[in-house]
Amino acid sequence: MRNRIQTLEQLESRLSLTPEERAGTILAGKKLALGITPHFFNLIDRNDPDCPIRRQVVPRMEESNTAPDELMDPCGEDSHMPVPGLVHRYPDRVLLLVTDRCASYCRYCTRSRVVSGAGEQELTIDLEGAFTYLKRHPEVRDVLISGGDPLLLSDAKLDQILGRLREIPSVEFVRLGSRIPVFLPQRITPELLAVFRKHQPLWISIHSNHPKEITREVKEALGRLADAGIPLGNQSVLLRGVNDQVEILKELFHKLLLCRVRPYYLYQCDLIQGSAHLRTTIREGQELMERLRGHTTGYAVPTYVVDGPGGGGKIPIGPSYIVGMTDDRVILKNFRGDVYEYPEISHSIVSDLRG
Ligand code: SF4
Repeated sequence: MRNRIQTLEQLESRLSLTPEERAGTILAGKKLALGITPHFFNLIDRNDPDCPIRRQVVPRMEESNTAPDELMDPCGEDSHMPVPGLVHRYPDRVLLLVTDRCASYCRYCTRSRVVSGAGEQELTIDLEGAFTYLKRHPEVRDVLISGGDPLLLSDAKLDQILGRLREIPSVEFVRLGSRIPVFLPQRITPELLAVFRKHQPLWISIHSNHPKEITREVKEALGRLADAGIPLGNQSVLLRGVNDQVEILKELFHKLLLCRVRPYYLYQCDLIQGSAHLRTTIREGQELMERLRGHTTGYAVPTYVVDGPGGGGKIPIGPSYIVGMTDDRVILKNFRGDVYEYPEISHSIVSDLRG
């Protein structure tokens, strides 16, 4: 963390920046800070201005343009916060934000309004208020701990947060969302694993977007987490010029499976201010999914989702394999486009069987 690249001078001394990147990096100080760990920086192809790793973490001038329909808070989190830092949108689960800092800053961050401390808005966190709220809302059985990146907190702080959650009987399922295994795999230490073991069952969702990110060090860190008994999932964001090709996605998802990580969600990029240069269309995303589903191991195919703009929550966006439906038939197509009919069981047959 101490050796992160955080200033224009540090970046320019290691990478020859394009004019767009230089201007973007100067402006980043007002919006989402520049931050790149040495591990992630070393994955950048210095001769390729379009390197997919570079596109994710090196600021660009386009970030300062707000396209129509882009939003400061694309997932409507601020309006669903009953307690500062606690987002309660779905009936039985909440998102608990525990820090606003990350090891590196993704230029498409959906929470860029509050992450990194560079923007105008600050993330207020009231952990005590969140624990009290959860005690008063026993319908909440699932807590996703996120931020920022929760694995930037000390082992002792994580132990304390997990312990407090475990004291609430109605909280059954606890997850951590973190990009640290990819940005800073050295953070997955024996001491951290001992904390996780204490608070089982605990699930972790990592975040990776491109097969280059799955380095030997990352694979080893993921192996340590898996060996500690932690089920691992991955969330990717579909990004133009990063992973919007089927072969790239397939290679990433295959590599993740070999690291014992289940590709869980592929996100349509949120309508974040300044993200137009990184967004694809949903139609392009569906075409990519059509070229994955059925063409490779089902475990390697995540669910493609969009967060309903303004706070609609995750909506699976197919593609759909149902061509049509009548009262007694469902018309389906398979991954090759061949059409099949599935006859629905009729209520009269069910009644006859019951006698
Ligand atoms: S690690 Fe997550 S929270 Fe942090 S900048 Fe990247 S997307 Fe945003």
